[in-house]
Amino acid sequence: MSDINQRKDELIATAKRCFDLRLQTNAGGNLSVRLEDRDAILIKPSGVGFNECTRDNLQIVDLDGTIEPSSYKPSKDLGFHLDLYRIRPDIGAIVHCHSPWATGYASAGLEIPCLTVQTIEKIGRMPLIPLSALGGPQTEVEISPVFRDPTIVAAVLANHGTIGVGSNLIKAQYLAEIIEETAHIAFVRDTLMAAHGKSPPDLPKFGTSAEAASQPQ
Ligand SMILES: [Zn+2]
Repeated sequence: MSDINQRKDELIATAKRCFDLRLQTNAGGNLSVRLEDRDAILIKPSGVGFNECTRDNLQIVDLDGTIEPSSYKPSKDLGFHLDLYRIRPDIGAIVHCHSPWATGYASAGLEIPCLTVQTIEKIGRMPLIPLSALGGPQTEVEISPVFRDPTIVAAVLANHGTIGVGSNLIKAQYLAEIIEETAHIAFVRDTLMAAHGKSPPDLPKFGTSAEAASQPQ
């Protein structure tokens, strides 16, 4: 099997997993993977659901923005995908979805707290990125400055959705899942605390695994 077909099959499997977990239904959201042998990515086109990705509808786009001829429209979010790959060589894949618990927090204007040991170790912080100054969806103008910090691997887009990045598709997908799981847990915690008239305790602070590894012994 050619390398490109292998990458396509990985992307299709990741998209299906995201759909099956109900992190992204309908035709919204998008995901992409870097192609190692050329300065290009493979990305889901606009108007195609995560459950409907096939080898025939995925698009190849060079990092300079040149789109290989296709009968599909490029994703509206193509610009921020390309820019994140350009500014972060460590990023090999991006999963962007509109998962409901996380997007609920994002629509309330609340940053999702990293409150479990897993989120503290694996994410550290997931910044909330505001809408475009023009009032529309976030673009690379708002998103790229946040990801220029190499410690950021996850972010939440106000009134929109989530972004998880990783060295490969499954790592980016795991982050999309952890973001959603954390938003759900945070909602349960905050609902219980409010019902018992308590304020949430301070978050534990022991740093991400990467930070812990860089500490002198
Ligand atoms: Zn979106």
